[in-house]
Amino acid sequence: MTFIDFRSDTVTKPTEEMRQAMFTAEVGDDVYGEDPTINRLEALAAKILGKEDALFVTSGTQGNQVAVLTHCRSGDEVILEAESHIFLYEGGASSALAGVQTRPIPGIKGALDPLDVKKAIRGDDIHYPYSGLICLENTHNKAGGKVVPLQTMKEIYEIAREKEVPVHLDGARLFNAAVALGVPVSELTKYVDTVQVCLSKGLSAPVGSILAGSKLFIKEARKWRKRLGGGLRQAGVIAAPGIIALEKMVDRLAEDHTNARLLAEGLDTIPKLSVSVEDVETNIILCDIKQTGLSNDQFLNQLKDQGILAVPFDDGIIRFVTHREVTSDMVHTAVQSIKQMI
Ligand SMILES: *Cc1c(COP(=O)(O)O)cnc(C)c1O
Repeated sequence: MTFIDFRSDTVTKPTEEMRQAMFTAEVGDDVYGEDPTINRLEALAAKILGKEDALFVTSGTQGNQVAVLTHCRSGDEVILEAESHIFLYEGGASSALAGVQTRPIPGIKGALDPLDVKKAIRGDDIHYPYSGLICLENTHNKAGGKVVPLQTMKEIYEIAREKEVPVHLDGARLFNAAVALGVPVSELTKYVDTVQVCLSKGLSAPVGSILAGSKLFIKEARKWRKRLGGGLRQAGVIAAPGIIALEKMVDRLAEDHTNARLLAEGLDTIPKLSVSVEDVETNIILCDIKQTGLSNDQFLNQLKDQGILAVPFDDGIIRFVTHREVTSDMVHTAVQSIKQMI
């Protein structure tokens, strides 16, 4: 059985062109800085992200955690959104590895209120931890791929600069935000000091993320990556598809957004399902299944029997993600199958 796989955009496989690029990639020892393909990817990523330098890391989680480690000292406090990926889904890494404490602040549809951030920044008092870092997430996964508005990012950055607290952006799906807003990605990254973007999600590369920031920051981040065992050797074979991801796979994300809308509208026509269609801004759909009377597991098992995969996200909430390997025909097929199923 071939599945229509809505679990995540991480399931996208490398394109033929990516596989060819892997096969023919020029390589060297990247720990010595001698892998030309890695060097090309890092230079390209820095340019696109509007930062001085960039570092290839093995995953989004590694990129975010290297950022926390580089920005903070043990005992610092990290201000972040209460349902952010760094807080919810990275295995407690920032406390386990960096020894920081997190200060989760509930946002609205993934966006922190700048005034809440301002209030959360610690003053000079012997009782307090230092405010070491502010983390933003755009698009926001748990909020359903919501775009954090540019204005919000700008206001938070102004507050952070005044208080001299660095800002890191978890931009695992930042290109989706840029495409949805119709702006170059550098318009978003100009309001943060450092950023992590995933090459392995909608952009379809098989492995890896980019961490970008100032030259000095990346020098120190490179050391943290090495300490974590992330210093790779002939890594050009995995950097080559990353270059194609950045050069050729960004614009097509608009198709994923169109398909997400289509799926959201289709699911919302099914009486026992509910989707807030206007909240679908990028490639993530949150579907409320409570009216079906089925548990998440029951619903997902029935879905699987129909050849459709998705993931549980919350109590009675199922997440569907569109990506390069889901066509509009598949979306129509899925909606018809689900309609008949319940
Ligand atoms: C996927 C994701 C990550 C982590 O990326 P991995 O490569 O899976 O470690 C971080 N942040 C957000 C918002 C994500 O969606």
